[in-house]
Amino acid sequence: MPELPEVETTRRGIEPHVLGRRIDALLLHEPRLRWPVPGTLPATLAGQRVRAVERRAKYLLLRLARGTLILHLGMSGSLRVLAAGSPRLTHDHLEFLLDSGEVLRLNDPRRFGSCLYTEQDPALHPLLRSLAPEPLEPGFDGDYLFRVTRRRRVAIKLLLLNGRLVTGVGNIYASEALFRARIRPGRAARSLTLAECGKLAQSVRAVLALAVRHGGTTLRDYVHADGTPGYFRQKLFVYERAGLACRRCRTPIRQRVQGARSTYFCPSCQA
Ligand SMILES: [Zn+2]
Repeated sequence: MPELPEVETTRRGIEPHVLGRRIDALLLHEPRLRWPVPGTLPATLAGQRVRAVERRAKYLLLRLARGTLILHLGMSGSLRVLAAGSPRLTHDHLEFLLDSGEVLRLNDPRRFGSCLYTEQDPALHPLLRSLAPEPLEPGFDGDYLFRVTRRRRVAIKLLLLNGRLVTGVGNIYASEALFRARIRPGRAARSLTLAECGKLAQSVRAVLALAVRHGGTTLRDYVHADGTPGYFRQKLFVYERAGLACRRCRTPIRQRVQGARSTYFCPSCQA
C-alpha cells in the first residue's frame, strides 16, 4: 500500500510534468473507483491549468485554476507520466491529457483509489478536514504525542496508525519508528514518558524523511508491487525481518500480530 513517503515521491515525480500545464481532456476508462468519478468531471477539468501540486497526508492535491483535484492511491494505485499515445496498461483507469503532449495516468488494480474534485477550500473537504498533524510538519512533536497518549490504553503502535491522531504513518514506518525510539510496539500509549514521546516523534519524522529521500527521484524508482520503495527496503531494521538478527544487537527480531497487522520488534533493543 502506498504510504506517505511513496505519495510524496509520487508528488515530486509528477510535479515537473504537470505544474503549469493545461488539462486538455480527461479520459474516464473506469469511473468505478472507491467513490465513482463523476461523469461531468471531464467537462469540468478541460482547459484548466495546474497551479500547484501539493500533498496532504496521503492525498495528492492538484490545484487548478478554478478548483482542486483530490487524488488518493488507495491500496494499489500509482500515477505515471508518459508520452500521449503510449500503450495503456490494464488498470489504467484515468488519463489526463496535458497540453505538453504528455499524459498523466492513474493505474489501480484494486480500485480503492479515488479522484474527487472540489471548488471549495480542499482543507474543508470531508476527507481532509479532520486529518491529524503531519509528521513532517511543525506541530508534530513530543508534546503533541504526550498529550494524545495520556488517557489511551491502546498499544502505541496502533495509536501511530490511527489517522485521526497521526497522519500518514503506515505499518512499515510505525514499526521502524518504534525500533529507532527503542519502544516496544505493545506498550500502552499512556505509559510513554514525555522523553519517550519526544524520541518517538523524532523517530517518526526521521524514518519518513529517510524513506522520502530513498523513494527515488523518478517514477520508475517508485513502482514496486507492494508500494515499498526498493532502496528504502534495504534500510529497514525490523519490518519483515522476523527471525533475522537485529542489526543493532544481533537478537532475533520478533513478529506479533497487532490489530490484524504484523508488527516487528527487537525484544532486547525495545523496552
Ligand atoms: Zn536489537
